[in-house]
Amino acid sequence: MLFKTNPIIEWTRHWALEADMVRCVRCHGIQLATDADREFVHLRGCTSGGAPAPWAALALALDHSREQARRTEHNGA
Ligand SMILES: [Zn+2]
Repeated sequence: MLFKTNPIIEWTRHWALEADMVRCVRCHGIQLATDADREFVHLRGCTSGGAPAPWAALALALDHSREQARRTEHNGA
């Protein structure tokens, strides 16, 4: 599977990392890394289309990024 954009960059369209927290770039709601297994709670009225589990989404984006890099290597690019 090919990715049109870098999955990490895609993640940062919705989220930002700050210290040990992830922050919604729209509503600025935060979640601590220690709460990673809980659903992210956006602030009222937030229109972010981000995943309800940003830490898991980040881990997945990292996996996809690695896969993308491997495929690029194999293609000799
Ligand atoms: Zn939000």
